[in-house]
Amino acid sequence: MSKPTEKPIRELCAEARATAASKGWDSFMIGDWDNPVRKDVLPRCLFLLVAEIAEAGEAYRRGKMRGDHGFVDEMADAFIRIMDIMGAFPDDFHAAIRQKMDFNTTRPAMHGGKKV
Ligand SMILES: [Mg+2]
Repeated sequence: MSKPTEKPIRELCAEARATAASKGWDSFMIGDWDNPVRKDVLPRCLFLLVAEIAEAGEAYRRGKMRGDHGFVDEMADAFIRIMDIMGAFPDDFHAAIRQKMDFNTTRPAMHGGKKV
């Protein structure tokens, strides 16, 4: 098995969605927002993403940074959730990440004086 960082983001998204589908999960699809039957798929996926972020916060509070249910493990869960969601737009997602990362290099220190 290859390391996750060796694959382009669009391949990781496809893998995340394929695994989710193989386990019976319904991934967000283009057009769901106009489909009365599927319009709640994205909110459910976003809820599950937030739940993983909360688990990462709890792991940090417990001082467990590594290992099962540690901070890194829970952040990986969150990233997998993001890839599952954004697998609906893999090329746009890839381009947006590149564009945002490039833009961030041009921003002033502390984004122009923000406190945190
Ligand atoms: Mg988790």
